[in-house]
Amino acid sequence: MSKLTYPIAGLIPANLPNSPLKNGHFSATKPTQGGADDLNRYICLQCDCEFTATQNAKYCSAKCRQKAYRKRHSQTTIRSCSNCLKDFYPSHASQVYCSSACNNAAYRRRRAGIVLVFASIAGIDQLTADDILERTGIKPARRVVEAAGYRWNVTGWELMR
Ligand SMILES: [Zn+2]
Ligand SMILES: [Zn+2]
Repeated sequence: MSKLTYPIAGLIPANLPNSPLKNGHFSATKPTQGGADDLNRYICLQCDCEFTATQNAKYCSAKCRQKAYRKRHSQTTIRSCSNCLKDFYPSHASQVYCSSACNNAAYRRRRAGIVLVFASIAGIDQLTADDILERTGIKPARRVVEAAGYRWNVTGWELMR
């Protein structure tokens, strides 16, 4: 069955009980008080249905607008996880790991890397360095490591000099 088409929306009386202008599928907005004269016909960019609206519109409904937004959004922001390299859709702009498991794994690796480099800079063994990080948190040691010219490079700390 092909979709019904109406050459001019203004020809359809909006006050009839079975008017397509009152049908939720065809009408984006309720016909205005003055009738259907100022309604224009559009094709929804998301579901291809025909609908009417009083002003320029791209989608028949909020649902279709959201669907289209999500599609556009996910296409432009798909990225690969910095830990497992799988593609994922980030829920916010700064998300670099696909999951909290990958986030934790990366944190542990970075921490282990800091222990290693921090120990060599401070001239102490790794157990002592690990102990210090346990007590002070990762940040002070990280500052020492970065001040010495090391930068985190996904898999390890590299000396950038
Ligand atoms: Zn639609
Ligand atoms: Zn991952």
